[in-house]
Amino acid sequence: MKKLVVVTGIPGTGKTTVCNEVEKIAEKRGKEVKTVNFGTVMVELAKKRGKELHRDDIRKHSIDFQQKLQIEAAKKIMEKAKNVKGCLIVDTHMVIRTQEGYFAGLPHRVLQILNPEIFILIEATPEEILTRRFKDADRKRDKILEEEVLEELSFSRFFAASCASLTGAPVKIVKNPDGKQVEAAKEILKLLVEE
Ligand code: AMP
Ligand code: MG
Repeated sequence: MKKLVVVTGIPGTGKTTVCNEVEKIAEKRGKEVKTVNFGTVMVELAKKRGKELHRDDIRKHSIDFQQKLQIEAAKKIMEKAKNVKGCLIVDTHMVIRTQEGYFAGLPHRVLQILNPEIFILIEATPEEILTRRFKDADRKRDKILEEEVLEELSFSRFFAASCASLTGAPVKIVKNPDGKQVEAAKEILKLLVEE
C-alpha cells in the first residue's frame, strides 16, 4: 500500500465522511488505513500553546500565523505517521479562502515534509456542496453563493496542479454524489493499494 496520501475537498464535498468510510472498508479487508485531519492537528498544537482556536476561525488569522502553524502541523503529522504501518491519509485542503486571498494548504515547504504519493480531490456538484454546508450545524461555514463554490472548486484544481508539478505525484479526482460515499471510498481504496 501507499504510505502517505493527501485527500482534499472544499467544505461540503464530504471528504471527512469519505475518509472515515475508507478506514472502515480497509479494516474489513484486513488493511490498515488511518486518517489524520490537518485542521484538527492545527487546533491541538494551538491549544498546547494556550490558544483556544475553533477550526473555522483558523482561516481568519494572519497568513503568517497560519503558515507557522501549518509547518508545525505537517511535522506533527510525520511523527504520527511513524505509528502507522499501513497507509496514512492526510485529510486537508488544497486551498484556504482567507481574508487576504487564496492560501495554499500544501505549499512547497509542507510538501517537502509530507512527501505525499498521490493527491486525491473529492468533488461534488455546487448544489450538493451548498446543501451539505447548510445542514452542517456544528460548523461555522462561510455563507457563499453557487458561483463562489464553482470558483473554490476551480482553485482547488489549480493548486492541485501546482502540487503535482512540485512533487511529481499524480492528481486523481473522485466524485462524491449524494448517498455514494461508499462507492467514493472504494474508489479511493483502490488508489491506495499498489499493484
Ligand atoms: P476541515 O475540518 O478539514 O475543514 O479543516 C478546518 C480548517 O483547518 C480549515 O478551514 C483550515 O483553516 C485549516 N486547515 C486544514 N488544512 C490546512 C492546511 N493544509 N494548511 C492550512 N490550514 C489548513
Ligand atoms: Mg471535514
